[in-house]
Amino acid sequence: MGWVDFHTHAFPDSLAPRAIPLLEEKGGIKAKLDGKISSLLKSMDEAGIEISVVCSIATRPEQFTSILEWSKNIRSPRIIPLPSFHPQDKGVKEKIEIIKKEGFKGIKLHPYYQDFYVDEERMFPIYEKIEEEGLLLVLHTGFDFAFPRERRADPEKILKVCKEFPSLKLITTHLGGWEDWEEVASHLLGKEIYMETSFSLKYLGKEKVKEFLLKHPSDYLLFGTDSPWSDQKEEVEEMLKLELPQEIFRKIMGENALKLLQITP
Ligand SMILES: [Zn+2]
Repeated sequence: MGWVDFHTHAFPDSLAPRAIPLLEEKGGIKAKLDGKISSLLKSMDEAGIEISVVCSIATRPEQFTSILEWSKNIRSPRIIPLPSFHPQDKGVKEKIEIIKKEGFKGIKLHPYYQDFYVDEERMFPIYEKIEEEGLLLVLHTGFDFAFPRERRADPEKILKVCKEFPSLKLITTHLGGWEDWEEVASHLLGKEIYMETSFSLKYLGKEKVKEFLLKHPSDYLLFGTDSPWSDQKEEVEEMLKLELPQEIFRKIMGENALKLLQITP
């Protein structure tokens, strides 16, 4: 079985040459790929990754349609796009229905790029609708290196959302919350809340990551890289170096993701 990367980004070929340098400058980080789908596929081949979930982020309400159309164009057995809408969009509920009707598996939201706090009341009808439609919600959690350190998506707020919407299929990124791992340990670790691994190995360190992965329910862990912001092949190799028990490793690297995405291997 090839692995599943639950957190990647890509852009339309016409946009990538502008988007990547802009994001590199904003985040102070170098991309490992040029941002095109063809490059992502090549990287997947090199890393032994069978499927990548491609997360889009609408930074303005007007981007909904172009993101949706592009998501339709790129989807394939190996590319699972998650479209996005902007929380300030007047017709959010309708947009969620469209995403569902078009057959997508879920939605990506980002509290920093989309200017919200995850536990704000105005977000609740959005979560409710996503929950009702049975869509996945990949939510950026923790701090973001491209933004000031405001507590927009910290573990305590995430837990509040999970309690309010117990059936919402929420996937936290960066092992529960980037660079907020002490809080993750006290509020999220050990609970039945999905976490993907991107940007944890390099920042939290191997020993701690391993400790986290072994403490958390193994059915709720997913492999993610945040490609092109890290190298998929390197990330797979780093995961291998953790020497996790085979059964847990296989769950993290693909089995859990296939179940969530309802894909039969
Ligand atoms: Zn990301």
